[in-house]
Order: sequence, then structure tokens, then C-alpha cells
Amino acid sequence: MSSSRAPITEIAPIVDGRIAGDLVCAECGYNLRTLALSASCPECGMLVVVSARGDRLASAPADWLGGLWRGAWWLRASVFVALPIVYVGVCVSAYGFWLLTRAQPGRVEPALDRGYRVGARVGTMVGAAMLLLLLLGAVAAVLFGEQKLFGSWDIKWQPGGAGAPGIPGVPAFDVLFLFAHAMYLLGLLSAWRYLRIVAQRAGDRLLTDAWRRLERCWVLALVVLVGMFGVFFGLVSLGWVAGRWETVWLPMAGALGWAGVLLWLWAATWRVVRRQWGVMDELMGATGRIDHR
Ligand SMILES: [Zn+2]
Repeated sequence: MSSSRAPITEIAPIVDGRIAGDLVCAECGYNLRTLALSASCPECGMLVVVSARGDRLASAPADWLGGLWRGAWWLRASVFVALPIVYVGVCVSAYGFWLLTRAQPGRVEPALDRGYRVGARVGTMVGAAMLLLLLLGAVAAVLFGEQKLFGSWDIKWQPGGAGAPGIPGVPAFDVLFLFAHAMYLLGLLSAWRYLRIVAQRAGDRLLTDAWRRLERCWVLALVVLVGMFGVFFGLVSLGWVAGRWETVWLPMAGALGWAGVLLWLWAATWRVVRRQWGVMDELMGATGRIDHR
């Protein structure tokens, strides 16, 4: 795997906070000579400090790097279990992201890094916790006879049951359920960005590119999934489809389409997190910090 690595840039002298020698941008290869550490690459916009040798993962504290290594392991495990049981994968991934997004002690963190890192940390954790509580609540409501699950399109779950304070007609469960998904997804997109920065800092060009492509895959898949939903409801509400087309054939085609897109997304994600794990494992081995196993 080492042959696929971008060459690690030699130490460039830093004088008065500026790069005083040749330093290749870790993102695009532009020569960052004479630029300030706090500046961004004029070609691709990546922060100069990320390309500077001092910001390489290989020189990060061992404890923190061990956390990344374990986080990468849990993330890989979460994607694996997400195929049969999505929400178990979601909860396991939140733990993985929690480990992956710890702040590196002693590092002056660029604002952009910090934004993606905190966004990933909060979004995935809050989203996953909400999803877990809502699903457990729904199971409890069904078990204790408060509610018939899937009795209609909405799970019309009002806090405290029928007659309790709540906004009549507003399906509290659905709203919270959607909100939790959105929260988790935003956290996830933020995490892909952050992991791309981690890959840059690991000096692995292929992994950096893989994260960028995966991010595009996710955005494309979300657009397609929501679009399919929208087209179906548009057709139904316009009255263009009815009868068995409305109740059987189109929903069936939609479900198959969704399954296909989700499977494609899963495969793409699996490839990248597996590679992330490989790079982290190799890095830990190379730096002699494998004792976290
Ligand atoms: Zn650049």
C-alpha cells in the first residue's frame, strides 16, 4: 500500500510564520513557498498549515492517534453491520466518530478543521441518540398497546398518549424522527469532510481523493432518494397515478430503486472506510504505536 502514498514533503523551514522553502500542497501539489502558515493554498484553498510537516499525523501524540485508530476500527465495523441492520450501524458509527473527532492536544486547529470536526461529533452523536430513543419509544409504545405501528402512513405518537398535552394533528414522532435523520446526515457529511482532512494529514493522496468522491456519492444519492420520493408523491397528488399503480407497482418500483441506491452507497462507503482503516493501521505500525490493539 505504501507505493500508493504521496511522497511526504520534506521539512520546510518556517521563518516569521511563513514557509521559507519548497513545500508541496498536500491537496494539489502547488508550491507553498513564501506563504503564511495561516494562509490557504491559492490553487485549491487547502490550509497551508495542513501541508506543513508539523501537522502530519505521524508526528501527532500517540494517545490521540490511538483514538483515531480505534475510531477507524469502529467506523469500519459500523458500516459492516449497517447492511443488515441500519440503525445498529448508526449507533456504532456514532461511537466511532466520537473517537475519530477528539481534538488533538497541543494542535493549533484551523477554524475549518474545527468546524467539520465539531459538526461531525455533535451531529452524529445527537442524531444517533435521538434515533435510538425514538425507536425504543416506538417499540415500547407498540408493546404496551398504546399504538399500532404502521397502522397508517404516520406513526401518530403523541407524548403521553391520547388526550395528553400535545399539538393535535401534529405527528410528534414523525417530526422528531425526520429531524434526527437530518441531524445524523449533516453530521455524516461533516465527518466525511473531516476525515478527508485526516487523510491529507496522513499523507495519503488516494484516500484523500476517495473521501472527496464518497462525499459526492452521498450528496448525489440523497438528491436521488429525496427526488424519487418527491416524484411519487407529486404524481399521486396530481392524480396522474391511481389504483394498483398507486398502491402496488410504483411503491414497489420505488422501494427497489431505493434499495439499489442504498446498496450502491453502502458499497462505496465500505470501500473508503476499509481503506481509512488500512491507512490508520499502517500508520500506527510505522510509528511503532501499535500497543493500542
Ligand atoms: Zn493546493
